[in-house]
Amino acid sequence: MILVRNKELNGALHTIHQIEDNFNKKFHYPYVFLNDGKFNDGFKNRIREAVSGECYFERIDAQDWSQPASIDTERQKKAMKQLDSEGVGYAKQVSYHNMCRYYSRGFYNHPRMKQFKYYWRFEPNTDYYSDLNYDVFKFMQDNHKTYGFTISLYDVEQSVKTLWPETLDFLKAHPDYVNPNAATQWLTENLQNPHKTEMAQGYSTCHFWSNFEIADMDFYRSKPYSDWVEHLEKAGGFYYERWGDAPVHSVGVGLFEDKKKVHWFRDIGYKHHPYTNCPNGKHTKGCTAGDFTYKHLKDQNCLTNWWNFEMDDADKALY
Ligand code: GDP
Ligand code: MN
Repeated sequence: MILVRNKELNGALHTIHQIEDNFNKKFHYPYVFLNDGKFNDGFKNRIREAVSGECYFERIDAQDWSQPASIDTERQKKAMKQLDSEGVGYAKQVSYHNMCRYYSRGFYNHPRMKQFKYYWRFEPNTDYYSDLNYDVFKFMQDNHKTYGFTISLYDVEQSVKTLWPETLDFLKAHPDYVNPNAATQWLTENLQNPHKTEMAQGYSTCHFWSNFEIADMDFYRSKPYSDWVEHLEKAGGFYYERWGDAPVHSVGVGLFEDKKKVHWFRDIGYKHHPYTNCPNGKHTKGCTAGDFTYKHLKDQNCLTNWWNFEMDDADKALY
């Protein structure tokens, strides 16, 4: 599944060639292309030539995509001017806010997506290095996994100032929604982070980087996640702040799912600029960044906390 615009055709093909080569030419899974605009024939034809599975090109309903009328545009403008002056990327770009909101609370209920349980999210211009000789979706199912990731980072604290307070507020009314085996330490402690994150008011800002995801949409469709994101929607932080879909998915999974059901796809060599997950395994071609976990970008990397605080022993032992 990819959310993409016509102008990103070449970037999408760049990634699809690698997904086909390393994985899908063996499994022939279908692709869903989502867009708030209309895909043109040139886009569709070039994509169809590149893939070995069925293609669905889907338009997103304007009401699922655009910001709701309840947003106070004066407050929004003021807040985005402030965030922009603090150096928060995309603050003033409304389409980016729409995108984050759609990935947080929309895509899994798109009529086309409803026919699927699992999805693999990819983005244009990302790289996939590993030759995958197993069915990743079957892996998720057989091992009872809900959410799979490759890279985990700290977020820009200014972008999520009230995400955690709003979540605690929601939990007061729904304490029973919290999973007994929740990843609370990862969500609230920031031992590895040299940056201060007071602005995030109790949230470590650790998240799974959502430009790569292999996950089970029935989790998002469940009552705890659905009720919680509707609370977030009412709070308005997709527009008054710049809540990303990565922290939203991560806080949701971290609180409402058993942490045993989260899987680190350590074996999938993956790059979204500027970060790489690079296993250097024998099936990995051209992934030269070394091991992300221990050699790179320690200041932004939150994987160590996931490993130390939350990762299931069985998951650690998988490789
Ligand atoms: P970044 O990774 O946070 O810098 O965000 P990206 O620019 O990569 O956007 C994330 C994903 O959403 C990518 O797959 C983009 O192609 C897609 N995307 C972002 N904005 C829009 C938009 O306005 N319309 C559509 N159709 N896709 C978008
Ligand atoms: Mn991106």
